[in-house]
Order: sequence, then C-alpha cells, then structure tokens
Amino acid sequence: MHTAQEIQEQYARLPALLLPWYAANARDLPWRRTREPYRIWVSEIMLQQTRVEAVRGYYERFLQTLPDIAALANTSEESLFKLWEGLGYYSRARNLQKAARIIMEKHGGVFPNTYADVRALPGIGDYTAGAICSICFDMPRAAVDGNVLRILARINEDAEPIDLPQTKKRAAEQLEPVYPKGACGTFTQSLMELGACICTPRTPKCDDCPVKAYCFAHASETVSQFPVKLPKREKREEQRTVFLLECDGTTALTKRGQKGLLSGLWQLPNVEGMLSPADALKVVSDFGVHPTELLEEVHKSHIFTHIRWDMVCYRIRCLVKNDAFTWATDAALHGQYALPTAFRIFLE
Ligand code: SF4
Repeated sequence: MHTAQEIQEQYARLPALLLPWYAANARDLPWRRTREPYRIWVSEIMLQQTRVEAVRGYYERFLQTLPDIAALANTSEESLFKLWEGLGYYSRARNLQKAARIIMEKHGGVFPNTYADVRALPGIGDYTAGAICSICFDMPRAAVDGNVLRILARINEDAEPIDLPQTKKRAAEQLEPVYPKGACGTFTQSLMELGACICTPRTPKCDDCPVKAYCFAHASETVSQFPVKLPKREKREEQRTVFLLECDGTTALTKRGQKGLLSGLWQLPNVEGMLSPADALKVVSDFGVHPTELLEEVHKSHIFTHIRWDMVCYRIRCLVKNDAFTWATDAALHGQYALPTAFRIFLE
C-alpha cells in the first residue's frame, strides 16, 4: 500500500502526462465535437453500460429527432422508447425525459450550470454530474467510473475493491485538486480515453501508455492483480414461454406494467415457466384467440444485469384478434412499437 502523499504525487503528474497524449491520440467521436450540455448529457447517459460503437448511431438519430431539451420534454413516451429501442436499461430514457421536464419547469429550459443543480436531476449520479460539469463548464469535478477506477487502482497498486462506494468517493476527492483549470473537460476525457483504449480490463497496452513511468503496478509487474473487485453476484435464472401469435398479418403485443424490469415497454405475450407445445397451445386457447397451428418453436436466452431469461417461443397461427392484445402490423412492429431486445430477437 502506498502512502497518501505518494498517491497525491502520482495524481499531480497526470494532467501533464495525459493532456498532450490525448491531444495526439483522442478518437474523433460525435460528442467530442461539442461542449453543449444537452448533447454531452445525452451522450453520457447513452454511454452508461453501453459500448461507444453501439451508441454512435443512436446518438445521431436521437439528436436529429429530439434536437433540444424542449423536444425531449414534449415527446411521447412511445416515441422516446422507440428511439431507445435496443439500447437497453430503458429507465435511462425515462429519467432523461423526467429531467428534461424539470429543466423546462425549474430552469426555464436552460441546462443548469451548478454542480448541485446538475446532480439533483433524475438519472444523474456523481459520475455523470462530474463529466457534464467538467466538460461543459470547466469545473474541477471528477468523473470516476469503472474505467477511471481501474487506471487509478493500477497506478497506485490500490487493493481496495473498486465496487465499494467509498473507493469511488476517495478517488474523486484525491483527483479533484489536480484538475487543470481551463482544461478540466479535456482531463476528464483523457482519463476516459486512457481507460477505453490503453489501460483496458484485459491485456492493457502498457508499452503505449503515457503514464507507464509512474505506474506502480507496471513497475512491479503486478498489473494483472489490479483492480480488485468484490465477488460477483450470481445471476438469477428464470424460464419463460413467449408467444408469437399471428392473425391476419398482425402480431399480438401487450404492454408491461409500470413497475419492475422493462416497465412500460411493449412485449410479446409470455408466461413464466418453460411450457411444452401442448401446454402452450392450451394457454393460448385460454387467451381466446383460437390457435389453429403451431408454426415454429425457437429457444433463446437473454441476459439482463442480474437476471438471465431462458425462453422458448412458440409461433402460433390464430383465428381471432381479440381485445386482450394490441395487434400490430409488420410496419408498426418495426416503426412504431418499442420492443425490448429480449422479445425482438424472436421477430428476426
Ligand atoms: S502502465 Fe499499464 S497498468 Fe499502468 S496505467 Fe498504463 S496501461 Fe494501465
């Protein structure tokens, strides 16, 4: 364990090492061409739990459709979810809209420019508030996520598990004093870039790293031991039977409840458990849609953060379109209804 003073000296060197490296090596990403808070905010929310390459297309389309805070505040939940479809973690989209409405009501439609007001918005935690405030308003506010914690744990050979909230809090407190005035946003982005491109979780590229001369783990060849993490929680496994009910060129959909996993989104009708084809047909008969033929049986899995769904999907031809379901045409299935990936995989 290195002393607090040694660690602080390490941090003090980072801006001089990282800023020139970033200027020469930064990837050209759409959200790096702006400091406009709305755009940075949308990018930071999309990038939570999602890879840069996956976000690019969504980001451009989202901003074309909803170019400002007012547009986001006023759009329907239906269109918002459609724009978000496939990105996962839909509560992020819901919180974006909640926050946009608060900005319209409390801040006159202008993105707030104090840390406290930014942090108070729904869906914005310490990391996102730090990223927005440093990038858009040049505030010395650290944005510490798993990437940054990994770098710091290696530089300092710090064995505190990075999943503990106090590790993150301490890292932010130690980093903020070294934030370079006038380049706070670039410093935040340079740390993010180092974590994404050089100090990666597996096989970091230490030979190309701008801080290698001061990295304790690199010097003592202990890089593979850092960062330390708490044991992973086991994923809960659930079995589900999904019904792709087709009638007269349309497919049956239902809406999920307003609470819990995938709340408020459309879904294919489904029940718990892995039913046999005969039992599935019985259940579908009880829906009152007169099943006539079992066309196909497909097995797939979908993994959420803490749950894994093992699913069987029965594609069944039906005779009756009853009111228990919304019957969507192919065009509406693709262009109108936001269907989470867990169900959309059965349409492909
Ligand atoms: S030298 Fe290696 S371990 Fe150390 S910060 Fe750079 S990439 Fe990470």
